[in-house]
Amino acid sequence: MTHSTDLNQVLFDRARRVIPGGVNSPVRAFKAVGGTPRFVTRAQGAYFWDANGQRHIDYIGSWGPMILGHGHPAVLEAVQKAALDGFSFGAPTEREVELAEAILERVPSMDMVRLVSSGTEAGMSAIRLARGATGRSKLIKFEGCYHGHADALLVKAGSGLATFGNPTSAGVPPEVVQHTLVLEYNNLQQLEAAFALHGKELACLIIEPIAGNMNFVRASVPFMTRCRELCSQYGALFIFDEVMTGFRVALGSAQSVYARSIPGFEPDITVMGKVIGGGMPLAAFGGKRAVMEHLAPIGTVYQAGTLSGNPVATACGLATLREIGKPGFYEDLSRKTQLLVKGLQGAADQAGVPFCGDSEGGMFGFFLFKDLPQNYATVMTTDSKRFNTLFHGLLDRGVYIAPALYEAGFVSAAHTEADIAETVAAAAEVFRLL
Ligand SMILES: *Cc1c(COP(=O)(O)O)cnc(C)c1O
Repeated sequence: MTHSTDLNQVLFDRARRVIPGGVNSPVRAFKAVGGTPRFVTRAQGAYFWDANGQRHIDYIGSWGPMILGHGHPAVLEAVQKAALDGFSFGAPTEREVELAEAILERVPSMDMVRLVSSGTEAGMSAIRLARGATGRSKLIKFEGCYHGHADALLVKAGSGLATFGNPTSAGVPPEVVQHTLVLEYNNLQQLEAAFALHGKELACLIIEPIAGNMNFVRASVPFMTRCRELCSQYGALFIFDEVMTGFRVALGSAQSVYARSIPGFEPDITVMGKVIGGGMPLAAFGGKRAVMEHLAPIGTVYQAGTLSGNPVATACGLATLREIGKPGFYEDLSRKTQLLVKGLQGAADQAGVPFCGDSEGGMFGFFLFKDLPQNYATVMTTDSKRFNTLFHGLLDRGVYIAPALYEAGFVSAAHTEADIAETVAAAAEVFRLL
């Protein structure tokens, strides 16, 4: 610490007087791990500096968007240039068309895409679209998958497959979630039973293909295969929430990873966010033309946004997509991410700490277990005290991972092998304390 008073604490106290909990998104408050959130003053490459002037190696990267690291020169230039031409018009621009084309070119399951400002908005709109396109109301989601905070998605499982969900937030009326069925991730039997009971009334099934909101849990290939088959068989739309995995795990996103094992695999609707905005408020949802043409102004499903397709945000997203499209980008990113996970595994093994990790592209997760969990209930059996010791041990050593055990981590193109070695060395010290 370069100051005798803790300036993060000073800011946190001030923030709590004017902002509920001192933060504008709950996880930032460090409630799960305790302690004082770090207030960021600036960031560059793989690092950010907090109010005390301490440097942190950043494995959150704004929860995924910063795949190139902070302040990438080409992105910065694009944003500065765009800002000079105006911040927002509420009228169409060529750049929106360019970004739509750039997204569609890389994710062939989509013929058309609509740009919005947040992942929440994209997920909510995708569900409205699915309901409008099918004329049905019910939907399936999975426990531990996060799709933003739209009312109908803030729901936990009811008491059985015949009963629908219960709200997980105050302020969500039970009637609003009565059409949402919550199933266990990777549970084939439940999936079969739910379709047998409700298949003909289902508008859609929404899934995080690699769930990053329960740390890092992959949908198994047999499970994903069956989701696709059952949706097709019953006429429900299959929605891939790739807000986190989109352009993060591969250039073709998580759907391209599954298409390697399931020939011809495609979702019906894809939801994107995070990386496609490169750190600016930008998200999207897209799919086949016949589905997308249900949207206003050509169709009957209403959806709109004052700042949608914002010219500065689209410039940021386009510049980011250009960089990640360069040859070898994902090979390099994957190699570094694997190096990190292997390094952590080695350090844990040496300290005799049960540990397992997994990664895809620039997204990773690890658990203080011997085997990778398959669902939310198992993830949540993590010893939170041990996780918190690990979190604070790393934080004290300048390594910033998510302040909650159910969040994924992210490596950027700006992280060097030296950064990873420093991280592994810090982790080795902390594992010895566990
Ligand atoms: C982050 C996230 C969202 C919500 O996006 P916001 O931009 O925070 O509204 C939705 N789905 C997934 C899978 C996410 O990771």
